[in-house]
Amino acid sequence: MVIVMAASATRADIESVVAHIEGHGGQAFVSRGVTRTIIGVVGSEAVLETLDPIGLPGVADTKRITAAYKLVAAENHTNRSTVRVGGVPIGPDTFTLIAGPCAVESAEQAMESAQLAKRAGASLLRGGAYKPRSSPYAFQGLAGAGLKILAEVRQETGLPIVTEVLDVNDVDLVAEHADMLQIGTRNMQNFGLLQAVGSVGKPIMIKRGLSATYEEWLMAAEYVAQRGNLDIVLCERGVRSFEPTIRNMFDVSAVPMMQQLSHLPIIVDPSHAAGRRDLVVPLARAGIAAGADGVMVDVHPHPEAALVDGPQALYGASLDELAEIVLTLPALLGRTSAAHRTDGVT
Ligand code: PEP
Ligand code: MN
Repeated sequence: MVIVMAASATRADIESVVAHIEGHGGQAFVSRGVTRTIIGVVGSEAVLETLDPIGLPGVADTKRITAAYKLVAAENHTNRSTVRVGGVPIGPDTFTLIAGPCAVESAEQAMESAQLAKRAGASLLRGGAYKPRSSPYAFQGLAGAGLKILAEVRQETGLPIVTEVLDVNDVDLVAEHADMLQIGTRNMQNFGLLQAVGSVGKPIMIKRGLSATYEEWLMAAEYVAQRGNLDIVLCERGVRSFEPTIRNMFDVSAVPMMQQLSHLPIIVDPSHAAGRRDLVVPLARAGIAAGADGVMVDVHPHPEAALVDGPQALYGASLDELAEIVLTLPALLGRTSAAHRTDGVT
């Protein structure tokens, strides 16, 4: 069962609902989103039968959720959610462009990439300080030094930062610097990490696992929500397939499917799907047309010299081409650009 609290519910109202649940032998998981708080209830059928929260102060509604995931299910939300990242919205009314290098390689490279992103009208900067590499001999990222560079670049450009956290031990440090923490495809089922990021009080982006089903992906989001954080953005980045000419198969169905199954925003990452820059703009177009709430792409000032994922990084000119599409195509679908919708807009 999920208990939906009214927007006007007070902390005391929430505490009394939790006490009601616990008093009847159930467990309560409070998740606070931007617009409302919902309380997930776990307990046996007998426990759920005895609960009667609807008359309690601050309770707007109760729902029996049939899906395996509860807090992130569409069933308990009449409207799709908007997540705010450093004031920038990602949600159903807007379209958000996120761009930046795959990895932070140096202060200069990060700043030049951010300037390309900004010039193209991106609202958020991406860039990995911790890189999940298939080979232990490959560049692993600048770690803490990379986070500092990102913070300096944010200071300089005003672009909030999205960056990956790989290890439970780094969660607090990454959360200190990042505006949104990214869970990469390889960690989508690292349940300890999901629980850890659920408690840091910053938005979380969850990239789809390399071969994850929609339900597995949403269960990963449920781990974060169950720890109290409903500010979650899903990111489709392609799944493993039998076709060797592309790195991953971009699953465009994931966009409308996630919107049917969940209230969470869904964005697409055509760079990591394709693995090659010539496909990035066409796949981005497909994602936008399918209804994605945003797109995240790799850009690099010198892709041929990139330490990670050079073949998929856009040159600045191609990012500008994508920016033109981002200005026109989402508008046809009734969205405004997130670049014009920062703090204070609901
Ligand atoms: C990334 O976005 O830098 C990344 C490593 O992506 P993925 O986890 O989707 O491979
Ligand atoms: Mn990459």
